[in-house]
Amino acid sequence: MNTDLFSRPVQLKNTVIDDDFWNQIRELVRTEVIPYQYEALHDRVEGAEKSYSIDNFIKAGKVVKDLSQGKEVAVYPTDKWHYDDKNAPEGAFHGWVFQDSDVYKWIEAVGYSLTTHPDDELKAKAKEIIDLVCNAQLENGYLDTLYIINNRNAVFENLKDFHELYCFGHMAEAAISFYNATGERKFLDTVCRFADLICDTFGEDKIKGYPGHEIAEMALVKLYDVTAKEKYLQTAKFFIDERGKKPYYYDKALGKETVEDNYHYNQAHREPRHQHEAIGHAVRGVYLYSGMADIAKRYGDDELYLACKKIIENIINKKMYITGGIGSTSHGEAFSFDYDLPNDLAYSETCASIGLIFFARRMLEIEPDADIVDAMEKALYNTVLAGMSQDGKSFFYVNPLEVLPEASHKDSRKNHIKTVRQKWFGCACCPPNLARLVSSIGEYCYTQNNDTFYIHQYIGGKVYADKAEIDIHSNYTEDGKVSILVSSKESFTLALRIPKWCDTFSFSHNAVIKDGYAYFEISNETRIDAHFKSEVKIIKCSNRVRSNIGKVAVTKGPFVYCLEEVDNGKNLQMLSLDKHTSFFVEGENIYADGYREKDCEKLYSAWEEAKKEKVKLCFIPYYKWANRGENEMTVYIRIE
Ligand SMILES: [Zn+2]
Repeated sequence: MNTDLFSRPVQLKNTVIDDDFWNQIRELVRTEVIPYQYEALHDRVEGAEKSYSIDNFIKAGKVVKDLSQGKEVAVYPTDKWHYDDKNAPEGAFHGWVFQDSDVYKWIEAVGYSLTTHPDDELKAKAKEIIDLVCNAQLENGYLDTLYIINNRNAVFENLKDFHELYCFGHMAEAAISFYNATGERKFLDTVCRFADLICDTFGEDKIKGYPGHEIAEMALVKLYDVTAKEKYLQTAKFFIDERGKKPYYYDKALGKETVEDNYHYNQAHREPRHQHEAIGHAVRGVYLYSGMADIAKRYGDDELYLACKKIIENIINKKMYITGGIGSTSHGEAFSFDYDLPNDLAYSETCASIGLIFFARRMLEIEPDADIVDAMEKALYNTVLAGMSQDGKSFFYVNPLEVLPEASHKDSRKNHIKTVRQKWFGCACCPPNLARLVSSIGEYCYTQNNDTFYIHQYIGGKVYADKAEIDIHSNYTEDGKVSILVSSKESFTLALRIPKWCDTFSFSHNAVIKDGYAYFEISNETRIDAHFKSEVKIIKCSNRVRSNIGKVAVTKGPFVYCLEEVDNGKNLQMLSLDKHTSFFVEGENIYADGYREKDCEKLYSAWEEAKKEKVKLCFIPYYKWANRGENEMTVYIRIE
């Protein structure tokens, strides 16, 4: 690693987003998503699956109080992934084993929102919930409502499945966000007590376990950055170093013998530093890889960084949809083998693309890399934004590239493909994850070091860098034009990322172009105009991807486009794009010349050239699909 290239993100409080495209989305998160989720956490949304989240904290708080008064407290089994009114007694924990994390993700999003948009009423609501959380902490610092309510004597016994360390990770991220927003330490101190317990419990000469669902690794690094407590960093490193060692901890904990290569689902099949392929549950994967990149940077660990590089290259070059979606199989919500990217069976969870953005940002902190920013951008502008409806009221968990409603309803292999966004999920990982990313997007646009300020994403607004104030006027999503006004106190280098989708670009000033970035020497007030010419493009996919043979996708700037039935009629598979078409762009729509094959009801017949008629095709940005009722959709289309 070249430490000269290391950079760090700009703190959220030093960024202001003011951008026509993003203002709208961020306002929706602030005014719709965050209030809606508050209601959902309290089980006050009619027709939505129950969350039980707030109830669990209230129950756990009562247990803690009863214990402190020496009262007898009931014990319930901790033997399932999900508990509800039918399979668990009223007094027991309800919901998924990771239910606490929904509350934490909400608080985290609120913290980011308060940082950029102060709101006393929202802050008061968050503080009420934080009080419930803090009241549920056991005397020794432990805090996970499943075990506090059901069985205090079984804590940390099933790290593989039961998510205590996962919930801790989200708790830490929430507490840091709220602390950064308000300066109030109560929640941060609470999470530090839990972190201290974790550091006392796990390590050399202690329990040699590690999280089944990763996130504690990157959360402990964040907690170290805020508190400077070295043991948090050491425990994060321990979790990464210990993972996958044989005999497996998970086998030892269950009294089993380690006989073979196992635990790919948890990325625990071998030590992370020897992993070179993205494998297993995709969200877990990218959360682990984020933690690996954090530790590689902080310890100057070349071997671990090499593993991160190989993994991200494997994702970008062999396992990522054109939409930035990852984790192509619903079986285990996981990465599949190289080039296995089916459109109609895609899992491509919203959270996985969000996690890819976390991982990407951490890789950029080690070394700027335009390919990585490109993947981050694909994920952000396509899969992540598709996760939320245009009114901010419903969400996708799964993000397919081809949908036939009848198949979703009648084919059990496609049960996971929802044709319209859902209001809320009992397993509601994606909506609050989306809320926390969109509310903190400023942390993903820039990084800086002593010499250089990098702009990786062109979102309009202002940023207070170490050596300058930088105003960004961005029309990036429309025509690729960006103006950057720099008021500098000292001289420094400004690095602007050149998007991969752009063949023609120009700058108002001379720049040194290197590895996908344009470098400018800044010594006084400067205005740089950049134009990344955004044209409609026809993109092909490797012929190793079987489902896309003979097909293409249409893109413009960072956006991938799709066809919907509502604009193009039923049976989208009968359409093809004319390879000589010129494109006509109107607003967000793209029109093109194409053909529609004549419908052929007969299952088999002698081959002959298909009969077809000329049609106008209408493409819309993928992130906007399924906002006009249930209908067919496809990203890829045949070309002729
Ligand atoms: Zn999710």
